[in-house]
Formats: sequence, structure tokens, C-alpha cells
Amino acid sequence: MSLLPILIAPDRRLKAISEPVAAVEADVARLMDNMLETMLAAPGLGLSAVQVGIARRIVVARAPDTPTQSDPDAAPRTLMMANPEIVWASDETALMEEGCLSLPDQYADLERPAEVTVRYLDRGGEQVETKATGVLARCLQHELDHLDGVLLVDRLSPVRRNIILRKLAKAKKFKQSDAA
Ligand SMILES: [Zn+2]
Repeated sequence: MSLLPILIAPDRRLKAISEPVAAVEADVARLMDNMLETMLAAPGLGLSAVQVGIARRIVVARAPDTPTQSDPDAAPRTLMMANPEIVWASDETALMEEGCLSLPDQYADLERPAEVTVRYLDRGGEQVETKATGVLARCLQHELDHLDGVLLVDRLSPVRRNIILRKLAKAKKFKQSDAA
């Protein structure tokens, strides 16, 4: 297994619409393993393939179905998914703070459906449906957005989005000149 470099916004590659996976073959399973290792090392709760520069519909996540990660009942579930799609979303919504490995140190409160059912191909290529609530439901909706080139900042007001992206662009420039 190996750690993969995570793209940081602003980066045009994060705006790509990811392509479906034809089948979960050995290369896809290996990518899932490397993505999971990369996500856990970051650390993060979810990672999409497009965030490591591979525009395929692959997502990994590890999060609990509880309202917070520190909930006493929190038992994180690890999901490795190809071609995930939301087949049901609750009318009930939840306001929750989100972060993103491609938007380091940036957090925003966002309202989304509280529960979702996601259909996907698992690491063994089997079609599975799972209902997620709490942090996991939030995480999956965030990761599935990535597959359509949608970032957390795209769901904020244009003003807020520009402030965050400008901050990140500046940090990137600083890092580059630092390394040079
Ligand atoms: Zn993200």
C-alpha cells in the first residue's frame, strides 16, 4: 500500500466529472486500499479518487452513524465504494460542520439531508445498498459531491467561497516559494 498525494484547492482537476468504473477489478481494489490508507493517515473521514487526481467514481469513508464522532455510541463504519449513488434522501435535514482534505483548515456549517441510502459496488464488486445517518450520512454526501466536481465551497455564498479559495491560493504560493 502507499500514500497518495491529495490535491489542494484551487485546482482545476478537482472540478472534473468523474467517470464510472466498468467493474471492480484488482486495480480498483488496490486504489481503494491506497485511498483508505491515505485518508486515515491525513487524517480524514472520507476521500474521493478525484482528490488524488484520478477522475473515477470511487469513494472511501470511515465514519459513525451518530450525530458526532465523539458520541459514546460512535462505531465508525468503513465503506469502499465504486459508482456510489444516492437512491434516497430524508426530507429531514441537519446542520453540520464540514471540512475537506482538499480545503485544509477550512470549515463551514452546511445544511443537508439528515439520512441517505447509497447504492454502490463494494470492494468485492457486489452491488450493495446502505442507509447512513449522522456523521456518515454527511460524509457520503460530501464525497459524492466530489464525483461531480462539487466542492464544499461551491455550496457556500460566492463571497465566502472566494475568501476561502484566495486564502488557499496564497498558502499554496507561500509553500511553493518556501520550497524553492
Ligand atoms: Zn472533500
